[in-house]
Amino acid sequence: MAVMQDKVAHARQIETVLAVENLQTEFKTKAGTARAVDGVSFELKAGEILAIVGESGSGKSVTSLSIMGLIPSPPGRIAGGRVLFDGKDLTTLSDRQLQDLRGADLSMIFQEPMTSLNPVLSIGRQMTEGIKQHLGMNSSQAREHAISMMKRVSIPAPEQRLKEFPHQFSGGMLQRIMIAIAMSCNPKVLIADEPTTALDVTIQAQILDLMKELRDNTGTAIVLITHDMGVVAEMADRVIVMYAGQKIEEARVEDLFRRQRHPYTIGLLGALPKLGEAGEVGDTELQEIPGVVPPLTDLPPGCRFSDRCHFATAKCRAEMPVFEAKAPDHFAACWHSDALETQP
Ligand code: ADP
Ligand code: MG
Repeated sequence: MAVMQDKVAHARQIETVLAVENLQTEFKTKAGTARAVDGVSFELKAGEILAIVGESGSGKSVTSLSIMGLIPSPPGRIAGGRVLFDGKDLTTLSDRQLQDLRGADLSMIFQEPMTSLNPVLSIGRQMTEGIKQHLGMNSSQAREHAISMMKRVSIPAPEQRLKEFPHQFSGGMLQRIMIAIAMSCNPKVLIADEPTTALDVTIQAQILDLMKELRDNTGTAIVLITHDMGVVAEMADRVIVMYAGQKIEEARVEDLFRRQRHPYTIGLLGALPKLGEAGEVGDTELQEIPGVVPPLTDLPPGCRFSDRCHFATAKCRAEMPVFEAKAPDHFAACWHSDALETQP
């Protein structure tokens, strides 16, 4: 049975459902142009869970908002690159076309739930609108579907709560509502930006299970942005590590935990338990690395991590490392990758 499932999962993962190509997103600020996302590319396969990790400010949320067409402009703009989804380049679509996609085939769970719910509409109204529109259900079918989704994210008394408004919910409950909405139309791609950060450990585990179940049942591909390497170990097939707006390492999750090819990733993983030995989800936050990300308005010419890196040499400060294969299916941007010690 497990073998069969593996085969199905593998077959699914051949089709690319989302391709980000050389994405560049910048913001005009008083200090100059901040290159928040600077040449990021990746492919997401059907049914795959791709984790994006990196310290705060590395460009993870800007990457996801760029994909969704939700960069506030001004001050922001997509300055280059393409986002290919369903045969279209999303960066060229009108707001109207993007709206039709969002919530149906392409769905996102935001870090901050309040920003994406309308305070003057009942939760029921907000939940059923998309369901009716995208799944073609009538009002009572949509209501039943909304209730079943609310049950799946463990919201007590869903019939009652449908009548209530966002301010009547706690932050954790609202986040669960957002997750229920995002998953209610079986999207092809779900982008989850630190979806469980605000939730307690038990609920967090439930939500993650639910996302996995969605993937297993419907083949939804998930981009999971997280701070928690325990979550990565448990959930992801593949991992991208971002630093100062760029991708600095990418590998299958087992390969990345076995051996890191970039000093930044080594720093992030720090004293973590090995893959498979991770404890409770939630106790494996990223390590603190001494130093800070360079200002995005004034980036050094060489490796952006060089100021904080034990291995940095003159070449690192002068020349930006090429993002390239260091082993089969394992990529990194570091001049000294091969010299990094194998993890014990
Ligand atoms: P994270 O990896 O923590 O999600 P973000 O993608 O939110 O990081 O942000 C990356 C950087 O983009 C920020 O540090 C900031 O410099 C810049 N940025 C994001 N949003 C804005 C904005 N609305 N205006 C100006 N700069 C922004
Ligand atoms: Mg973020």
